[in-house]
Amino acid sequence: VNIEKKLYGGKGFVIIEDVTPSEIPEGFNSRDAVIANDAKICTNTEALKDNIEVYKFLEKLFEWGHYSPFEQAVLKFRIKAPYVVWSQIDRHRSFIYSSQLRRSGRYAKFTVDEFYIPEYLSSYSSWIEGEESSKETLENIVDKALFNYEEMLQAGVPKESARFVLPAFCLMYEDLVTVNLKNLFHFLALRTDKRAQREIRELADGMMELTRTLFPYSIKIFSENIKPVNYDFNEI
Ligand SMILES: Cc1cc2nc3c(=O)[nH]c(=O)nc-3n(C[C@H](O)[C@H](O)[C@H](O)COP(=O)(O)OP(=O)(O)OC[C@H]3O[C@@H](n4cnc5c(N)ncnc54)[C@H](O)[C@@H]3O)c2cc1C
Repeated sequence: VNIEKKLYGGKGFVIIEDVTPSEIPEGFNSRDAVIANDAKICTNTEALKDNIEVYKFLEKLFEWGHYSPFEQAVLKFRIKAPYVVWSQIDRHRSFIYSSQLRRSGRYAKFTVDEFYIPEYLSSYSSWIEGEESSKETLENIVDKALFNYEEMLQAGVPKESARFVLPAFCLMYEDLVTVNLKNLFHFLALRTDKRAQREIRELADGMMELTRTLFPYSIKIFSENIKPVNYDFNEI
């Protein structure tokens, strides 16, 4: 597999690079059949024969809270997202991170293409006289920061120290994360919620959309049984 969704106005993306089970079993139309038939080991009963049986059985697993068969399905995502999103993904300890691909500001130079500037900031006014919107002001801040960064490099400051002048939350980073379907459900329940920050929601929605193409029944059942997050941000 190599399925991709562009994110963050084209500056970022999410790709599913690899998946276990790698094949759809003969006679079925999705990898969900593997999860369902793996779960059959417990009861040692006859293998499921068709897609409707698979769907109904997965529904039962959900109803019972018997989630461990979903841990047999594993997805490897390549993600490019702004640092503000990574600071939230990183809290999910059930993800396995590569961190080797996350760009090193010690060795590589940052350029203007690597800053995420949300389009929606154009609908907020600027706090700087003569500038049209918050978006324009943020663009100018990034330009000025990059100018100062270059000046520092020219003055011989090492890259690892010159980067202190950059607005780091906007910077785009790329990394690989691997997660099983059960833990992905947990992540999606928290991060597709309308109260999650819009940027992580954009990523979570993208991850769910791509995962749906590989595990359509599991994602359908998950979406229908998703538990609402039990708090209201305004009350915190
Ligand atoms: C809307 C929203 C707002 C948030 N706001 C804040 C905030 O203001 N500040 C902040 O710091 N964080 C915040 N977070 C992050 C949140 O506290 C979690 O760290 C993050 O969502 C990861 O969730 P998790 O621990 O359940 O997931 P994972 O780390 O992936 O863990 C999955 C599950 O494994 C179990 N588990 C894993 N490790 C342990 C362990 N050591 N002990 C016990 N059980 C474990 C738990 O059941 C856990 O739910 C926010 C999250 C959301 C969704």
